[in-house]
Amino acid sequence: MVQAPAIPRHRLWSPPENLGNLGWNLERTYSALPEEFYQWALPEFSAEPRLIQFNRSLAESLGLKLERAPAEILAHLFSGNQVFADHHPLAQAYAGHQFGGFTMLGDGRAVLLAEHRDRQGRLWDVQLKGSGRTQFSRHGDGRAALGPMLREYLISEAMAALGIPTTRCLAVVATGQTVMRERALPGAVLTRVASSHLRVGTFEFAARLPQLDRLTALADYAVARHYPELLGGADKYFEFLRAVIRCQARLVALWMSVGFIHGVLNTDNVSIAAETIDYGPCAFMNAFDPAKVFSSIDTMGRYAYGNQPQITAWNMARFAETLLPLISTDRQEAIERATGAVHEFLPRYVEARLEIFRLKLGLRADVADGVAADDQQLIDDLLSWMQEAKADFMTTFRVIAGDVGIGECLYWENIQFNQWYERWKRRIEQQGMSTVEGAAAVGRANPVVIPRNHRVEEVLAAAGVGDLQPFENFLQTLRNPFQPPDGEPADYGPPPAEADRCYRTFCGT
Ligand code: AMP
Ligand code: MG
Repeated sequence: MVQAPAIPRHRLWSPPENLGNLGWNLERTYSALPEEFYQWALPEFSAEPRLIQFNRSLAESLGLKLERAPAEILAHLFSGNQVFADHHPLAQAYAGHQFGGFTMLGDGRAVLLAEHRDRQGRLWDVQLKGSGRTQFSRHGDGRAALGPMLREYLISEAMAALGIPTTRCLAVVATGQTVMRERALPGAVLTRVASSHLRVGTFEFAARLPQLDRLTALADYAVARHYPELLGGADKYFEFLRAVIRCQARLVALWMSVGFIHGVLNTDNVSIAAETIDYGPCAFMNAFDPAKVFSSIDTMGRYAYGNQPQITAWNMARFAETLLPLISTDRQEAIERATGAVHEFLPRYVEARLEIFRLKLGLRADVADGVAADDQQLIDDLLSWMQEAKADFMTTFRVIAGDVGIGECLYWENIQFNQWYERWKRRIEQQGMSTVEGAAAVGRANPVVIPRNHRVEEVLAAAGVGDLQPFENFLQTLRNPFQPPDGEPADYGPPPAEADRCYRTFCGT
């Protein structure tokens, strides 16, 4: 480990003694990696930090007792004004393929504040995003604007509540400073909690270092942290590759099952722990369209909804390349084995997708021979119809769930949909359920609320002029996505009257 510089006294976190240490159980594991993997970086000082959001339920699940601390004290910590003694923050080094091209990157506007081990023994990265320049900032200002940070908070909480692996947000602090984008915007720092920030890009960085022991150290660290069951195995690195591929296949299938479009699936935004990470231009789709793209910078549609499985397979190929020297000393053999592993991605994805969509349609897999044989076709036919009819993704499943008052003309007056519905009914009956029971199963497996773009924009616009109430209300609703809010989903459920043809998302950098 490289000796960390001394932290100036006035930058040390020192909550009043009577609060104790508020449950922090800090460790230093990443900084034990070879020195190339990080740069020490102290957050820039914020003039007037103000706590805008604090995630109590997440804090509780991490075993933190932060609700005992006054907001000003939390604002100092989660702005980066004050940092933990003996835990100098650091910016992580990584590289990445961005829209297909290789680049050296690194945390240009983020620092790892600390690692925290919770009571279940799980280790978490606590990272500040938007906390100022680091050695990796290049031309960037290291800052973040309040709107995009609140957007990440809202959407990652929604994803977590939908049961999709994701990084979480513990806090958002307004810095009291202005950041310059197309116009002047209020600045903010977001505290991101992740099971780690190891990315495919971290391995791409390591693989380009001249010393092989650096790559080995990173791989050993990642296996111990995320796939400890593989430790001691004879073929550890190959099994590690396969495990990441399997988990990523499932993650993408989960995105696809809720109409989520990540928007910027560069290899530096692909987590080794297979959590959804980097909520820049992501969005949820309304009308079903595999070619759907929201991101303003994705002009070629590289990261369109329907491309996400293929692109993740491509990203897994970049990951596999980095591990070649660890898989075998015989390069040809390493390439053959790694290629085999990458080719497992799509079948794994198809398998996960089938399992997840069966659940969405109330279809059981443990049924008599032959009954489930056509499920794949049944699912694909529904999606084809949705595409043709421009049917809303979420609404379609609520219609099948039998929600009253929706879907009259588009669905029940449509011959193709009715034909499909008859097939679904027959399939449900073949597994010994009534249509009502089948519909109830669909109801339980599908959200009544997702962060629809127009709603997200509405609550962020209100937050931008100081009214956080709509944001809070929406956040609470999104935390129970399978339960109609007060029995009345009408406010949050339906797609916008005008389709989202013109909706654009931005990276927020
Ligand atoms: P992202 O698009 O957020 O995945 O970021 C890609 C790269 O650009 C990462 O290395 C970021 O740390 C860096 N970056 C993004 N925004 C800024 C910024 N405002 N200042 C400095 N670096 C940034
Ligand atoms: Mg990124």
